[in-house]
Amino acid sequence: MNGGGPVPVTIGVDVGGTKVLGVALDHEGKVLGEARAPTPAGGHGPGMHAVLATIADVVDRLAATAELTAAGSAGGVDNAGGHGGFPLGAGVPGLVDSEGRLLFAPNLPRAEGVDFAGGLAGLGGVSRVVVDNDATCAMVGEWRYGSAAGVANAVMVTLGTGIGGGLVVNGKVVHGAKGFAGEVGHMVIFPDGRACSCGQRGCWECYASGTGLGRLAEEALDGGRLDGVLALAGGVRSAVRPEHVTQAAAEGDRGALEVLDELGWWIALGLSNLIAVLDPEVVVLGGGLMQAGDLVLAPTRRSLARLLEGGQRRPGVGLLPAALGELAGAVGAAVLARGTTRDMVVQGGAY
Ligand SMILES: [Zn+2]
Repeated sequence: MNGGGPVPVTIGVDVGGTKVLGVALDHEGKVLGEARAPTPAGGHGPGMHAVLATIADVVDRLAATAELTAAGSAGGVDNAGGHGGFPLGAGVPGLVDSEGRLLFAPNLPRAEGVDFAGGLAGLGGVSRVVVDNDATCAMVGEWRYGSAAGVANAVMVTLGTGIGGGLVVNGKVVHGAKGFAGEVGHMVIFPDGRACSCGQRGCWECYASGTGLGRLAEEALDGGRLDGVLALAGGVRSAVRPEHVTQAAAEGDRGALEVLDELGWWIALGLSNLIAVLDPEVVVLGGGLMQAGDLVLAPTRRSLARLLEGGQRRPGVGLLPAALGELAGAVGAAVLARGTTRDMVVQGGAY
């Protein structure tokens, strides 16, 4: 590709339940521009599906940014809006098939059934489209430029509204037979537990996500253990958000710290299962919950040491925050767009 020259500027877009976040990425992994927009609440618009239209808007803005950058660049960027166009990668939440269609999306149901690859291929300036699961994109971003760089076996877990997963095994991104591998948020860890948006009960994401933290906080409020958190929410119970819990915990509120201990146990429970199956060198945690940093990581590490098979005997597993933070998914989507298939080996330099 590209005559063996530098990998061109690519655009990556991460479609989340609340926002669409895009980056323009150069061949060295430098982020040339960022753009974001709220994920539309509706489905089909007058022309194209509303989610596709929002992505198109984000891509347009990024293309303009990258053109400006390329004009001032010393070289190597010959395609910014020019004859070659941009390769575009998109990460979307849920079951994405190998044709780039979103078949099932519990946390973005309004985009179910959308042919993302087909819809985005028609955008102006786009030379090639790769669509993948959002957490798999985050895994690729962290593997290429972040906390899992240089590692042959890694697991990415995104803790957001739900929980997403990306897997690298023996130096390759795992997609599975149909492209659906890594849906770790829907591992059932509590039979007959809470109802999940996927239709099952007791899925990991009902307990260890941002939504799960909200429910743990509700239970603690019921028990009168979160008065400090309630005060942060202006005394209005319905106004309590997960951020109030982490803020109170940062200020040393005992009830809030106990809730985060509980959350850490649930996170560690799922991680211990993943580690038992995959034996990764590194587990990278990303997603909105990780904005709380050590407040979430520390209790997770404590519980993981107890829950992991042979936890006291085996060498430790690195549990790291996503180095790219909230950009991991968009950066990974841009990296994937460099290749012609979804299975190319990053370590081999194919990206
Ligand atoms: Zn589920």
